[in-house]
Amino acid sequence: LDALRRAFTGLDTEYPLADGTTAPRTYLDSAASTLRCSAADDIVRRALRHYANTHSTLHAGARIMTHLYEQAHEIVGRFVDAPDDYTTVFTGSGVTGGLNRMARVLAERRPERDLVITTLMEHHANDLPHRKHVGEVVHVPLENDPDGEAGRVDLSALRAAIDEHADRLNYVAVTAASNVTGIVNPVHEVARHAHAAGALCVVDAAQSAAHVPISVQGPDAAEALDVVCMSGHKLYAPGSPGVIVAREALFEGLEPQVVGGGIVDRVETDRYEITDALPEREEAGTPNLPGALRLAATLQLLGRIGMDLVAEDERELAQYALERFAAIDGLTIYGSHRLEVADRIGVIAFNLADLPHGLVAAALNDYFGVAVRNECFCAQPFVRELLGRAGNAGGAADGAECGPETQPGMVRASLGLYNTEQDIDAAVEALSDLAARPDWYREQYRPRLDGS
Ligand code: PMP
Repeated sequence: LDALRRAFTGLDTEYPLADGTTAPRTYLDSAASTLRCSAADDIVRRALRHYANTHSTLHAGARIMTHLYEQAHEIVGRFVDAPDDYTTVFTGSGVTGGLNRMARVLAERRPERDLVITTLMEHHANDLPHRKHVGEVVHVPLENDPDGEAGRVDLSALRAAIDEHADRLNYVAVTAASNVTGIVNPVHEVARHAHAAGALCVVDAAQSAAHVPISVQGPDAAEALDVVCMSGHKLYAPGSPGVIVAREALFEGLEPQVVGGGIVDRVETDRYEITDALPEREEAGTPNLPGALRLAATLQLLGRIGMDLVAEDERELAQYALERFAAIDGLTIYGSHRLEVADRIGVIAFNLADLPHGLVAAALNDYFGVAVRNECFCAQPFVRELLGRAGNAGGAADGAECGPETQPGMVRASLGLYNTEQDIDAAVEALSDLAARPDWYREQYRPRLDGS
């Protein structure tokens, strides 16, 4: 792992600080996008010496690329333990594209089932596509936690919702890990309940795939996941496509949503026949070969290290970060944060006293070179609920967005393979300074806070 840590692009890039100096950034925004694993560069570069379009079948370069592209599908499928009756489809974009596609596929496959159950903790990408393409969406609430540290999905409410809507339920869509709190959901247990009601289980693995092992196959067949979606740019492979890993049977007999070259057996001016072959029929047009090869090479590296080890390493760092963050005066961590990290990845959302989240994120960057994200992380209902439960306006009191269009929100620090205790220390030092001198920082951002 230590050797791999040095193999990421962007860790030593210097950025200007407010005092006129420059410093390499401390990157704590991997939940938005991970940095590029440059250990895969050489493999990709060598492969791309043969670059040619996979649709040209008889020259050597094209055949090599076709072979590598097929292999890339296999490597990605293996990464999530996909059995033979699953297909791996590269999508044009990330999980957003994957979930939109699958919502339409499943709506068309089972039109009589026009309801989806999801949870309150979802990213908008695992909510809006179901509303748009399937119909009604029921959002399962969070656990009622007497300590006010809530953040987990209420599994008994989930089971009750499944029972109540069994006749209309198409699928349960759940995230494997929250992009706000890092809390990991028991997706196989969710799948078992969904299957018992004749429904499917669709998993958003955008946040979890680079951080904890994920297996499409559960402990037994009843717990297998039917669909898993991932994003290449969150798997240390920016520029790579997203992936859908799904049961082949879900696509069978349906017209692909995107049609064109590369997926047809025969075309006349008045009719066409689409190939039965998967994933070809779901990948019309020229594929993003460099991106697919990069993703496969990166996942191969991760697989060689072992995702168990990756997860354990991140858990230790997340534990360290949680303990150090929790000790900062006036810092509120959202979600269940009993300082135990067995069931969460390294994503920590917080606010610092009543400082606007935009001010905190800007100051971390401008004065300390610490890169974090702020606002609602495309999970507005969840963020609102967490803020409400914590009885806190989300640092919105005087202009959360450093401008007149204020929105409640949070600051988020998130970990990747390259982060170390020194990165956490840098963030803690910065936050402690903000906690100690809030008025000085307010003064620096006064024009923006006033909206002028
Ligand atoms: N789901 C979750 C949990 C996410 O964190 C994200 C990205 N922030 C998405 C879905 C959407 O992924 P993408 O932007 O790659 O489509």
